[in-house]
Amino acid sequence: MQNLIVFCQQCFAWIEPQSELCPECGCPVVLDQPDPDLDTLARIMGTPLMFLGAARVERSALPSFGELIGTTEGVLFLPRLHRRLNGAWEGVASTRLPGWWPFRGDHTSPKFLDWLRRPSGVRVFEPAKEGEPEPIPTALPDRLLDSPGAFFVERRFIRAISARKRMVKLERSPFRSITLVDETEDCSLCASLNSLALCAARTSASV
Ligand SMILES: [Zn+2]
Repeated sequence: MQNLIVFCQQCFAWIEPQSELCPECGCPVVLDQPDPDLDTLARIMGTPLMFLGAARVERSALPSFGELIGTTEGVLFLPRLHRRLNGAWEGVASTRLPGWWPFRGDHTSPKFLDWLRRPSGVRVFEPAKEGEPEPIPTALPDRLLDSPGAFFVERRFIRAISARKRMVKLERSPFRSITLVDETEDCSLCASLNSLALCAARTSASV
């Protein structure tokens, strides 16, 4: 199973199976399982609330550098990927923003969240037009399933968030905890995660 990466439907992460088990949640990996139902995934992931910042996840086989997006139901990690000429995806290892990345220096822009809400394959540079249809709820699941290396951490499983210098730990139970390296310029990842927790709690309380 070397170099095989698959999407685990138990813990919503792209993983490299080890002995036919998911290294994140320990569940058996069933290779011929059909793709998850997008509506169910959309319900689990909620709607995007805020951009949390650039982060790195130390791992060998999967892309490590990407962005964290906070939603009403959890945290989505989207790796920065570059498509090779042969069609294969490769991770962008450097912390420098690649030229094709559409949000250079503009991460807090509503454009970013708007892009997340759009289905993949849509041009990202066009400004939102007036009277545009409602955000499409399947966009976040599309991003997750189309980005090898992405993962989604459900808020209900996050027990605590702690930081030591640039290492930010999402303590998760029952699945494996996740350690992220804060790659934001002002070391604000932990603070952003905490404000997401407050914001998501307020959003769910007001529904
Ligand atoms: Zn898993």
